[in-house]
Amino acid sequence: MSSVQTTCPYCGVGCGVVATVNPDASVTIKGDKTHPANFGRLCSKGSALGETLSLDDRLLYPEINGQRSDWDTALDTVAQKFKQTVQEYGADSVAFYVSGQLLIEDYYVANKLMKGFIGSGNIDTNSRLCMASSVAGHKRAFGSDTVPCSYEDLEQADLIILTGSNLAWCHPVLYQRINAAKKQRPELKVINIDPRQTATCDIADQHIALKAGTDAWLFNGLLQFLRNNDHLDYDYLEQHTQGFSKALDAAKKSSGSIPIVAQQCGLEEQEVAAFYQAFAKTQKVVTVYSQGINQSSSGTDKVNSIINCHLATGKIGKVGMGAFSVTGQPNAMGGREVGALSNQLVAHTDFKPDDLDMVGRFWQTDNLAQQAGLKAVDLFNAVKAGKIKALWIMATNPLVSMPDVDNVKAALESCEFVVVSDCVNNTDTIQHAHVRLPALGWGEKDGSVTNSERCISRQRAFLSPPAEAKPDWWILNQVAQRMGFEQAFNYQNNAQIFREYAALTGFENNGLRDLDLSGLDNLSDEDYQQLSPVQWPVFKTENGYQPTARLFTDGCYFHESGKAQLIAIEPRLPQGQVNTQYPFMLNTGRIRDQWHTMTRTGKSARLVAHIPEPLMAIHPKDGLNLGLQDGGLAEINSAVGQGVIRVQLTSSQAQGDVFIPMHWSKENNEQGSVGKLISPYFDPISGQPEFKQTPVAIRAYQPEWQAFILLRQGMDLPESLHNQLTYGVKIRGKQSWRYELAGETTPESWKDWIIEHFQEKDWEWLEYQDRAKGYYRYAKIVDGKLQACVFISPDAQLPERDWLQDLFVKDELSLDERINLLLGQPAQKKDDAGKIVCSCFGVGKNTILKVVKEQNLTDVAQITEKLKAGGNCGSCVPELKELLAKA
Ligand code: SF4
Repeated sequence: MSSVQTTCPYCGVGCGVVATVNPDASVTIKGDKTHPANFGRLCSKGSALGETLSLDDRLLYPEINGQRSDWDTALDTVAQKFKQTVQEYGADSVAFYVSGQLLIEDYYVANKLMKGFIGSGNIDTNSRLCMASSVAGHKRAFGSDTVPCSYEDLEQADLIILTGSNLAWCHPVLYQRINAAKKQRPELKVINIDPRQTATCDIADQHIALKAGTDAWLFNGLLQFLRNNDHLDYDYLEQHTQGFSKALDAAKKSSGSIPIVAQQCGLEEQEVAAFYQAFAKTQKVVTVYSQGINQSSSGTDKVNSIINCHLATGKIGKVGMGAFSVTGQPNAMGGREVGALSNQLVAHTDFKPDDLDMVGRFWQTDNLAQQAGLKAVDLFNAVKAGKIKALWIMATNPLVSMPDVDNVKAALESCEFVVVSDCVNNTDTIQHAHVRLPALGWGEKDGSVTNSERCISRQRAFLSPPAEAKPDWWILNQVAQRMGFEQAFNYQNNAQIFREYAALTGFENNGLRDLDLSGLDNLSDEDYQQLSPVQWPVFKTENGYQPTARLFTDGCYFHESGKAQLIAIEPRLPQGQVNTQYPFMLNTGRIRDQWHTMTRTGKSARLVAHIPEPLMAIHPKDGLNLGLQDGGLAEINSAVGQGVIRVQLTSSQAQGDVFIPMHWSKENNEQGSVGKLISPYFDPISGQPEFKQTPVAIRAYQPEWQAFILLRQGMDLPESLHNQLTYGVKIRGKQSWRYELAGETTPESWKDWIIEHFQEKDWEWLEYQDRAKGYYRYAKIVDGKLQACVFISPDAQLPERDWLQDLFVKDELSLDERINLLLGQPAQKKDDAGKIVCSCFGVGKNTILKVVKEQNLTDVAQITEKLKAGGNCGSCVPELKELLAKA
């Protein structure tokens, strides 16, 4: 058994992982104690990585028009079609849509091919959906896309402001680091600014539940407060910044006093004042922000309203201080570095004469794109309009993640030539590909990624490539060669690509650009293999190279003046406003145990168990007014789409707001992605879509019947049912699959209906039926093992699923279990563990509540001692605290 140090492929924390392949081919995953991002910690998703490596659903061979092909034919087809389209319609008639899942080396080759040799700016990345507003905000403020902070600043700060960031679920290891620091130093204060009461509130000394979308008023008000109360650093403003007076005028205009801010943001004056006082009186302040700020039609302005406050107080570029944007994806930062956003060139250069000249000479090309390409929403609109005729989508699933996905679907359906390179073969997007190219997945591919603190880490392979899957950089290199660019694309390995990229960052840099990896441009192949995590910029030294923990320590910025720029912000409300037709504001985001479109985390039954179905969280008072029931169904409509969803009543939602997770797709949900409800509004500067605020209408939905089916053998939801179901979700369980269904037409015979659609002709029926009331229950046991069960009801009054699903794990059902099977509950309630709270150890809510009550437990440490829950990744600790409070 050998262990390999690699990095987690999920969020932008970029945790180090040690993967060990065991003799039985299983993989053991542990946190890497030497990695500076996590020092051995992992969250629930990272801990379960070993459960996501099966080859089910993998794309293993090239395919053309749905038929297996071979690499030569597939690569020639792609190269010829792209070349021919460019010749016939020009370079801007083709596009790449890429992803923060790609490694730096893949990303670099893709960008070089499109911008450097095809000659179009039309390469955009799905980081447009999560980071683009931060990038634009950084560039306006600093003259460069620079994240100045390090994770250690979180531990060294005295005040951490979290805004638009559910860190506990979306960047769990950073949350754990802050939690640990707070335990060591209780004087470290945390303020959480978020319309929702999320799990992150658990470490917050103050929760500011502002009205959705009003962040810029709050931070403009802070700037004005700091000025009025003499908390500005005038020396810093004078020496290192420009634009202060205009920024202050704008702040005064929108947010002149605490009462005005409180009213605009829907807050109490005292809570605004307390926040402002805390910022003013604390020197070491870090403001952490992510998608809640970025995913907005005024995201860039919100970013700058935050940065303005740090610049005006000089709380930046020093230990424990700064505005800290945390990235969503494992290599979102890497994509920004190599220039995979369509409005950047490469290596933190832009489409301006000096940069174009420098890059053209470095790449030795005379066909460099001269202007920015299309950003994601416009790019797919151009595909739909027929302007882009050949599109290559790499490692991403825009039919789930984009706003107004029905429009994106129409675009792909109408596109002459769609190529998808991916490691999985069952995404909503790949169904529309003319050519499918099998890429390596995590554990097989090898390269590097950059996390939120500018730390470049190696992602190393520990599994052999399956079947004919290939590295993304290899696929791109082959296509480039076949398009006639052999000289520029003769890469033999990923180390060679990395060296070229590092050399470009240092080429004629002379301190002009923040991104400088020149200290790494002569790594040998062996050095590259052994490269330890390193924060950029990385400069050459006599003995090797020198990384950089923190930027702007000297107060020098990358605008021509050398000074930072404060930006005058005129706050704007979300583009879509609630009204009588659409009276609720829909917010979307991540949940604790799932990643993006579930193609990997969806393979782990214990991760799925935490929140198995897509839910709409809504305040109980709103629920009451609408006649919604917890666990019932609701119909939701927006200006662009409609869906049916399960209801969760929770006072963690503000009244008037609802929240739906982003992860489910057509693959596992008849209703498809929540993206179909999102209007394609976007920030005019960054192009980032407004995923956090969509006006919607909601009404209770009562279908004719509701059901769940548990099967030992999984299957796709039958095609024959598509027109019959108004709701259908497929859920992976431990040794079983669950199907949550609802419909409007009750069949003559449920038995015949099951046989027809679930093809189980030889079932031995153990059934119960009450025709008058509309109940039907069925179970099948073979050789003592439960094989299937079906529960159908005219309403949502169906049994709890957890106990029944646990029965599939048993080798033989007991007499009690058989007797109680069709009741849907154990004879003794103690046998029902309830909904999973701790994914690491599979501990359910009922078990926890029972032990807490019986043994009078009063804190989480005691629960961990008794049940292990919370003792591994700690992601469930906020929920354990909630249960303690409940008990
Ligand atoms: S916090 Fe979790 S998901 Fe993010 S990198 Fe670390 S282990 Fe992976």
